[in-house]
Amino acid sequence: MKGILVFFAFLVAGNCRQLFVGDQVLRVAVETEEQLRLLASLEEDEILQLDFWLHPVSSDLPVDIRVPFASLQTVKVFLESNDIPYTVMIKDVQDLLDEEEAEMEADSVRERGSKSFNFAAYHTLETIYQWMDSLVADHPSLVTKLQIGSSYENRPMYVLKFSTGGDNRPAIWIDAGIHAREWVSQATGVWTANKIATDYGRDTSLTSLLNKMDVFLMIVTNPDGYVFTHTSNRMWRKTRSRLPGTTCRGVDPNRNWDAGFGGPGASRNPCSDSYHGPSPHSEVEVDNVVNFVQSHGNFKSFISIHAYSQLLMYPYGYSCNDVPDAPELDSVGRSAVKALSTLFGTSYKVGSICKIIYQASGGSIDWSYNLGIKYSFAFELRDTGRYGFLLPANQIVPTASETWLALKNIMEYVRDHPY
Ligand SMILES: [Zn+2]
Repeated sequence: MKGILVFFAFLVAGNCRQLFVGDQVLRVAVETEEQLRLLASLEEDEILQLDFWLHPVSSDLPVDIRVPFASLQTVKVFLESNDIPYTVMIKDVQDLLDEEEAEMEADSVRERGSKSFNFAAYHTLETIYQWMDSLVADHPSLVTKLQIGSSYENRPMYVLKFSTGGDNRPAIWIDAGIHAREWVSQATGVWTANKIATDYGRDTSLTSLLNKMDVFLMIVTNPDGYVFTHTSNRMWRKTRSRLPGTTCRGVDPNRNWDAGFGGPGASRNPCSDSYHGPSPHSEVEVDNVVNFVQSHGNFKSFISIHAYSQLLMYPYGYSCNDVPDAPELDSVGRSAVKALSTLFGTSYKVGSICKIIYQASGGSIDWSYNLGIKYSFAFELRDTGRYGFLLPANQIVPTASETWLALKNIMEYVRDHPY
């Protein structure tokens, strides 16, 4: 029966969305270096088609793997025969995707009737772009929409600019959704844009900030990838560019920046999810941001929003050496996550990317830091793995609300510490 329903859904949708029926997400508790090495060898295996949500990097950190149904038996036998303990985090990935899709469908029906926008739902690129226009229309003296270029598949790339005037004021950059499947990131971007627009003039702190500085917010930094997660493959992370000599598509846009490019923690294999691309800034989406930020020339803070793991990180990713400003960035980060935790008690870890997760080269905040933007941070939002990339929509508003407290805390610090 389920098969027939899926078949009809397929006909109605008229697309060829990839299914994940029976896929599981396993959390593997690595205890020794030897087990770490064994897991890394699984990652190299092309036949198993494993999707590492959290990579094997250290025996202190869990490893989350989406295992396709066809590989499940092999992987479980492998883990058990090597005495590597694991738990099943998600029993059937497709069940969660079906729920997510049913909610989106119900929500879009409701919205057609009411004309209101639901911040507690995931939305398509088209809906987000339409909503951005309505935000600008509702707050014309504060918000403008800038197109900073187009994506590989020729979709416009928009930045919302929040400004109360002045010429090229010191500014804060926030981007979300550079990794397509991290949906709570784009959704948090939407909520945050609305929050800034509605709180200006009401919230004293934000008002004083916007009277001195501009905020630039890019909600969907990887529009092609985001569309692809809706139409074809919910698990897509990369851009959608084509490269000569391979049928695999896309580059990891957070390994593509000119900061330790091609070093450890990025793959040279075009089929890998962390493929760094043929050259720095080869991805037009990255290049557009680079050009915009460089030509603006007065950014004081650069913040990238990802999911998941509940981390607030500062440079570097490409090296485990401390940046000169590490002590200050660490204390700014600690103050921000303290503010974040006051709302629901959500706990975050703070540290440099390299020390807190893993060495990863070619990342955006390493590039921005090396450009001279001292207050460069990256968030990994909720959760810590219960749902991973498939965070239920009812957690969007709580996630965005608590994240806002951290963002505001950082922005206030930047406002009060001109350099
Ligand atoms: Zn990410």
